[in-house]
Amino acid sequence: MGTVVAASLIDGASQERPFPDLSAALLGRDDGLIELHYAYATDLIPASWSGEGMWRWRGLLPLADGPIRYPLPVGGTPLLASPSLRAVSGMPRLWLKDETRSPTGSNKDRATALVLEWALRHDIRTVTAASTGNVAVSLAVGAAAAGMDALIFVPATVNPDKLRLMLLAGAMVFAVEEGYEAAFRLSRQAARAYGWCDRNTGVNPLTLEAKKTVAFEIWEQLGRTMPDAVLAPVGDGATLSAMYKGFTELVACGVADRMPRIIGVQAEGCQPLKRAWEGRSPQLDRGTIADGIAVTTPSNAATVVRDVRRSAGGFVAVPDDAILHAICTLAAHSGILAEPAAAASYAGLEPALEAGLIERGERVVILITGSGLKTPRYLNPAGGAHQVRGTLDEVERVLRPAN
Ligand SMILES: *Cc1c(COP(=O)(O)O)cnc(C)c1O
Repeated sequence: MGTVVAASLIDGASQERPFPDLSAALLGRDDGLIELHYAYATDLIPASWSGEGMWRWRGLLPLADGPIRYPLPVGGTPLLASPSLRAVSGMPRLWLKDETRSPTGSNKDRATALVLEWALRHDIRTVTAASTGNVAVSLAVGAAAAGMDALIFVPATVNPDKLRLMLLAGAMVFAVEEGYEAAFRLSRQAARAYGWCDRNTGVNPLTLEAKKTVAFEIWEQLGRTMPDAVLAPVGDGATLSAMYKGFTELVACGVADRMPRIIGVQAEGCQPLKRAWEGRSPQLDRGTIADGIAVTTPSNAATVVRDVRRSAGGFVAVPDDAILHAICTLAAHSGILAEPAAAASYAGLEPALEAGLIERGERVVILITGSGLKTPRYLNPAGGAHQVRGTLDEVERVLRPAN
């Protein structure tokens, strides 16, 4: 069990206060995101890799002892040293943290698992969240597997392939005409009005706690050392802030002595965090195919920018055509099928090199946050199949068209 020693409100006056019952925040009755602090010590770090996935990090999670009730496996995703991708990118010490191997194919499954574990332990049967797509799929599938009801608020423009998955899992889905921000407000209001468990990232501290475990795993999979830099696609910013917290906690536990630089990759058509980091005002959002990171008004922008700055990292933005190209490169060289938001982190390598945020020879990890199987419309190979009759001559004809 993680002994939480202090909880402070991130936004607002950062009041330290004795660790409260989390119920208020989780049932939508609190304002601002609570940040949890532990009595950091080396013995909170598990001694060796095992098959338990995310739950092995229980020493640094606000989770009481006892068996895990949440039924889907989560965490423990592979860290790939892809030789072919290293060759084409010219980065000999590049790794891919493959979060597409999560139960519903995105990094959202870590947060879903911890929130639903908490709900199961508190006999709460109904959960809600707003989502651009992947949270919704994750929550719908996770709730279905756990025997709970999910009520989900998405922008009306939600990717229809993802919508089908939520509905197949039996979630009740509200498609909100005014878009994601309105869906978020509505989901929070509904949680408060009806007493549902609120899984919204940006208000539920468990989401950050769960997502930080990806940092622990990266450190562990690199032989218990820190990378020089980590690149991750960023929308609302929880993934980045959680990684920052995770790496910070490794240092606080005394098992690492420096932080990696954290680099957030945004889509050019929606880059409020990059602009905030540069001290520029937000601009009108042109939109992007990368729905997972299409967040116009991030809920904790100041925190994300602060975390990135403290890590000595930065932000880059990539155009949609670079994202589409990155999907193809990842498919052809790494064995990972990525959705647009996830491929953005690979597309961000070149601009990050140009901006001097990373160097080619450094140990760089890119987070691949979501699977391309959920976004088939963006898988566009250059060529098609060769139509042949079943003889070797026909194969020969294709292989040597000149003969
Ligand atoms: C949610 C998501 C991200 C990152 O989002 P944050 O809101 O910044 O945590 C990145 N990629 C994919 C595929 C996602 O679903």
